[in-house]
Amino acid sequence: MTDERRDRELGLRRGIPRRDFLNGIALGTASLYLSPAEILAQATGDARYPPALTGLRGSHDGSFEVAHALRDGSFWAQAPSPHDTGEIYDLVVVGSGLSGLAAAYFFQDAAGRSARILLLDNHDDFGGHARRNEFTLGGRTLLGYGGTFAIDSPLPWSLLAKNLVRDLGVDVARWESAVDRALYPAQGMTHGTFFDRETFGADRLVRWPESGLPFAAPQRGPAGVSPEAPWRAFLAAAPLSDAARRDLLRLHTTSVDYLPGLSADDKKARLARLSYADFLTKVAGCHKDVLPFFQSTPKGLYGLGIDAVPAQDAWGLGFPGFQGMALPPTAGPGTNHDAVPYDHDPYFFHFPDGNATLARLLVRRLIPAAIPGRTAEDVVSARADYGRLDEAGAAVRLRLESTVVRVRHLGEPAKAREVELAYVRSGRLETVRARRVVLACWNAVIPHIVPELPAEQREALAFAVKVPLVYTSVLLRDWKAFVKAGVHAIDCPGSYWSDVNLNAPVRWGDHEPSRRPEDPIVLHLMCAPGEPGRPARVQHAAGRAQLLATPFLDFERRLRDQLARALGPSGFDPARDIAAITVNRWPHGYAYQYNSLFDSFWLDNSEPPCARARRPFGLMAIANADSAAYSYTDAAIDQAFRAVQEILPRRG
Ligand SMILES: Cc1cc2nc3c(=O)[nH]c(=O)nc-3n(C[C@H](O)[C@H](O)[C@H](O)COP(=O)(O)OP(=O)(O)OC[C@H]3O[C@@H](n4cnc5c(N)ncnc54)[C@H](O)[C@@H]3O)c2cc1C
Repeated sequence: MTDERRDRELGLRRGIPRRDFLNGIALGTASLYLSPAEILAQATGDARYPPALTGLRGSHDGSFEVAHALRDGSFWAQAPSPHDTGEIYDLVVVGSGLSGLAAAYFFQDAAGRSARILLLDNHDDFGGHARRNEFTLGGRTLLGYGGTFAIDSPLPWSLLAKNLVRDLGVDVARWESAVDRALYPAQGMTHGTFFDRETFGADRLVRWPESGLPFAAPQRGPAGVSPEAPWRAFLAAAPLSDAARRDLLRLHTTSVDYLPGLSADDKKARLARLSYADFLTKVAGCHKDVLPFFQSTPKGLYGLGIDAVPAQDAWGLGFPGFQGMALPPTAGPGTNHDAVPYDHDPYFFHFPDGNATLARLLVRRLIPAAIPGRTAEDVVSARADYGRLDEAGAAVRLRLESTVVRVRHLGEPAKAREVELAYVRSGRLETVRARRVVLACWNAVIPHIVPELPAEQREALAFAVKVPLVYTSVLLRDWKAFVKAGVHAIDCPGSYWSDVNLNAPVRWGDHEPSRRPEDPIVLHLMCAPGEPGRPARVQHAAGRAQLLATPFLDFERRLRDQLARALGPSGFDPARDIAAITVNRWPHGYAYQYNSLFDSFWLDNSEPPCARARRPFGLMAIANADSAAYSYTDAAIDQAFRAVQEILPRRG
């Protein structure tokens, strides 16, 4: 079949809202200073309500070109002359992600509601990674999460961060009553694995048994249930070689000590220096055909495949192969935060738009005029008025589409009383002054915008290479094909989109989940690009370059093709069933968490770069999740609090 015919069959040439017009525009020097709103206006005419924009979102075109020109050293040669706004603030925060918003909240708490605060962000929406995707179909509003999925964390939340969540009116204990766990099972739906022909030789969706697949039996299997029967049934249906079937069955259902004769500490030390891929083939004696089955399993947490995830972390995450090794459930040296075996009270909540609800609650607290309502429930359907975020006269102002390019003390950092910030907005270079600054943007950006920082600190900041990710929300007209296939969540170990899930059925405020298979629903797909086989941070840099070079049409083609191949046999027709697509591209996604395979300081327990990177500097302090090298909302909040304490005016 020709490419063009296949594209037509997949529905690629059909009109869904806002296709790839941005990639069609040469975003070179001529458009360097166009704001995202201006670029969007060229194509759509209305960009005033960013959550409802579809197409390429996340770090959308128009949001990063100025910063990249700064990085590449070409910015100042072309920069327009600065315009002094004459504005002076008690605090300016760079970045309006959860950390920046929390910093404004803590500062206001300490300095009083009359304190004048400005938040600057390069995107056309606030919340940073905590991004809301909003769709309308048939008069009904449907929500998706474009980034930060949930209040969640492998380590316990601090009391401080919990207090902020509670102060915003969120009672996390209500999660169990908000989620309808019975909805999908009542439709006979469970998990599935999609094996693609390029990796496994055949396209096949294999449904898991309803009882699930005990991942690392026998310890983790349901008590008294033999793990063998479900695995045998699953493996028999999977397009895998006999060697892979045999080894996968052994790994999942037997208890073998693959490192006999070593103490538990020595085993952990060995596992910390070995990738899970090497553990499987070199220690557990598996055939190499098992590797593709596991390759993308850790991607949702690490943005990496098993080639770059330490075996000790795989053990902590509950991957199979360690059941017989008698490892005590405590973190060994070099364990990634995500893999720390730790039993604590669940502190989890997923709003229909993810942690964008937290961002919206914070914005409403700081700028009440911008978002109507009073409760954590009514915020879910409140329409933010973006025109009121930056009103003259308001104590707190949030200025979007404003890329900060320079932050400098006016005078010696140790003695200065003010800082000047320069940012590009709508093609203009504007300046404001501040008595205090919190840099709640990404660590890797800071050396470029604060060149006066000491060299050692700049180097430590630059270490924080972000993990690239794509979270895509697809509006489906119905989910009948998913019911027919009997799956609501699909692992796709060899495919571009490694995870495909119907959104969790959450009822919150007046938001109702899609309950009938005939009704529209939002589907979530995840992709974490990289270059397997290379060190983690090199993979992340390569993945970022891939994302920036991928036009929307390619993301779209890949998702239509994958869904057609996985669910076509159950009646899914992408040309008919897809109503809209929002690709949330995050070239700078998760904060990089240290990895025992590549970061010797992490194994030695010596001072990590993030500790050197977050030192205060004159009137500036550094927040954001990178400051903790921990990619979770509680880190963003805790770091905001610390940063604000560091720059609060001293009393007495
Ligand atoms: C796809 C995805 C899913 C996630 N899921 C979860 C989850 O389920 N739970 C969880 O706890 N965490 C999750 N995270 C981690 C998430 O990063 C943190 O929870 C938190 O939202 C980070 O907040 P932050 O403010 O530190 O950073 P960000 O949200 O990245 O905000 C920083 C802001 O600074 C802006 N900025 C950068 N440079 C400049 C500049 N020069 N001028 C102006 N502004 C600038 C950025 O554009 C951004 O808007 C997820 C992250 C991603 C990418």
